[in-house]
Amino acid sequence: MKYPGKLYLVSTPIGNLEDITLRAIRILREVDIIFAEDTRYTGQLLYHFQIKKPLQSYHDHNERRQTQTLLQCLEQGKNVALVTDSGTPGICDPGFKAVRAFLEHGGQPEMVPGPCALVTALAGSGLATNAFYFGGFLPNKSGARDKRFQELAGRPETLIFYESPYRVVKTLEALKKIYGDRRVILARELTKKFEEFLRGTPEELIAHFKGRSPKGEFVILIEGSREAVRNGKE
Ligand code: SAM
Repeated sequence: MKYPGKLYLVSTPIGNLEDITLRAIRILREVDIIFAEDTRYTGQLLYHFQIKKPLQSYHDHNERRQTQTLLQCLEQGKNVALVTDSGTPGICDPGFKAVRAFLEHGGQPEMVPGPCALVTALAGSGLATNAFYFGGFLPNKSGARDKRFQELAGRPETLIFYESPYRVVKTLEALKKIYGDRRVILARELTKKFEEFLRGTPEELIAHFKGRSPKGEFVILIEGSREAVRNGKE
């Protein structure tokens, strides 16, 4: 179905508010309504840019109902922006479900690209960027996480995951066990005041956190299998 209204997928900063694009600001100013993963969080972003718009929530727990509300808005000819808490909607957040639902109903969102944590981390990591594997969030359970690492052990591409600060050390321990001394990069608090790239083997990074808990947001990047690269798999 062709909708009279437009749906814009608008990327927002992953930390530094100056990273919002001019186009994102214009679209957020021009649309009739904004659907947001967390309306309070997005409310603060809009307040910063002096944008006043009606907000509707769209998250994992109301996605079915809110898909209908969103489609109704588009049918009524309203232009809608969809944003999530950070970065590019759809990348490891509920934006994905909105896009899927919209496509199933015959629509196609217009993209308003901008920051994305995995791309920012990869670009600053120094690891190979020509080919990479993005695995999203690792499984919570240690058995499933280790299995994932084992399955990926022979891959030549740079491996990238999002990780919670509470699991970083456990994940490093699993990497030490399964990948030995492969180079790992932790990209922490990207674009924020305490942004840093920590580099080392899993063992060195575990030592870095001895006596202190990891804090903030993390992307974990792991060098691809050197053997696979040598054997021309890249
Ligand atoms: N849609 C987002 C994007 O485009 O990157 C990702 C959303 S996902 C729910 C949130 C995860 O992304 C965090 O747990 C963290 O792993 C990563 N992340 C987001 N912002 C980050 C930042 N400023 N520094 C490091 N990692 C970040």
